[in-house]
Amino acid sequence: MANMVMTKTPMPEQAPDVRNKNFKEVALGYTEEMAVFEAQRCLHCKNRPCVSGCPVNVPIPEFIGHVANGEFEEAYQVLSSANSLPAVCGRVCPQETQCESKCVRGIKGEPVGIGRLERFVADWHRENVHTPAAKPEPNGHKVAVIGAGPSGLTVAGDLAKLGYKVTVYEALHVAGGVLMYGIPEFRLPKDIVQHEVEGLKELGVDIECNMVIGKVLTVDELMNDYGFEAIYIASGAGLPRFMGIPGESLKGVYSANEYLTRVNLMKAYQPGSRTPIMKSRAVAVVGGGNVAMDAARCAKRLGAEQVYIVYRRGMAELPARKEEVEHAEEEGIIFKTLTNPVEVLGDENGCVKGMTCVEMELGEPDASGRRRPIVKEGSEFELDVDTMIMALGTSPNPLIRSTTPGLDTDKHGCIITDGPDGLTSRPFVYAGGDAVTGAATVILAMGAGKEAAKAIDEAIKAKEQA
Ligand code: FAD
Ligand code: SF4
Repeated sequence: MANMVMTKTPMPEQAPDVRNKNFKEVALGYTEEMAVFEAQRCLHCKNRPCVSGCPVNVPIPEFIGHVANGEFEEAYQVLSSANSLPAVCGRVCPQETQCESKCVRGIKGEPVGIGRLERFVADWHRENVHTPAAKPEPNGHKVAVIGAGPSGLTVAGDLAKLGYKVTVYEALHVAGGVLMYGIPEFRLPKDIVQHEVEGLKELGVDIECNMVIGKVLTVDELMNDYGFEAIYIASGAGLPRFMGIPGESLKGVYSANEYLTRVNLMKAYQPGSRTPIMKSRAVAVVGGGNVAMDAARCAKRLGAEQVYIVYRRGMAELPARKEEVEHAEEEGIIFKTLTNPVEVLGDENGCVKGMTCVEMELGEPDASGRRRPIVKEGSEFELDVDTMIMALGTSPNPLIRSTTPGLDTDKHGCIITDGPDGLTSRPFVYAGGDAVTGAATVILAMGAGKEAAKAIDEAIKAKEQA
């Protein structure tokens, strides 16, 4: 008999006025009892609508069924058969617009907490099972991956399981991509990401850090001189955008990428960190997505008295996940919506001393279907801040495209592929994740990696048989 409680079993979390002063994880995870209770809310629908909402087709009712029976390792085996980073996805996937949005329990109440159960199962396995992954039999083929973010790690794991010798080249000194340098510790602890990376190494994947492809080696050198039969480009979209307003080069203006990298990757919040970061009094984060929420919540934890989200549309239009907006509000972030900066103001030392903003109102919907923000006449005002963080989106870095002849890209610098299998305009060169789609989500980047792994395997086998 299913558990017919209408709401999700709540997840314990740190109190807002405690957590906004530390970098420890906000949500604390389910206990075994909570997980079993929540899993019993699943109705095991025959047509499995939740699975159709998952970009990597996790067999959701099956893994939840095992949790309901207290069979946690069996649940992990089912879950990890489809998702190679379940502890990550259980924490950061936008389940509310994916699997949970399709859950029938959501029609009259809250959907099953699929993401919370995914996180529980992955954490339970990590804490309780210590069998190293068996190394697959080598098949004699070599593939290179550029970029060790979720897309690159997924393709590497899937190909390694098929016996390929995979080498991942990563520009930074540590693997994980945005999972390491972007998403803060309090949402995604870094030891969890590194545990997943270690699992890939156990499978035989080589990860070479501090290797900027396009500078140290090119795609052509990897194929012609190093004997890789296929390449998967998963270099992400790490190039920040700015507004192009006066004053953006003043001291105290950061891109969200730089700010978050200093905080998360270089641990600017730890006393011994050698990364310089400003001790800010008042911070304005411009933008309304997940990146903006992360930057604002980091600034608060670093001790800023006031932290503003400055966004040109309204609360209803914020593109960030609802949960992240709620967490930010609880932690004391001030939302200045329908507001747009027009100039950054500097003092005599070239440091930010404020910004001039205008108020906005919403007009008719634009091409994206969202109502277009229009400036309110005579609404200029000054916001007193000493730091400004631009979280306006990112695009792919031009390095790979400028050093790979014949690699087609679109006007945004995204690599063009011929479809979901990720083949580019160059034979045996595949691409996926943010490098193809522009800034998107972890699970979409992973889904692209899974499709490409299948396509690369088929292409290499077909060539062998030809
Ligand atoms: P990335 O994760 O960007 O990894 C690309 C890797 O390639 C990087 O490690 C980079 O150093 C490396 N690289 C780049 N150029 C080269 C080169 N020339 N040579 C070698 N290596 C190179 N998504 C969600 O689903 N949920 C969230 O809550 C969420 N929050 C986010 C918060 C922030 C702050 C940011 C920035 C993004 C967030 N995202 C979130 C988006 C998500 O993280 C990305 O969509 C995802 O990481 C893309 O994966 P990827 O593997 O394509 O690229
Ligand atoms: Fe269970 Fe919801 Fe999926 Fe139905 S839709 S099988 S209730 S998780």
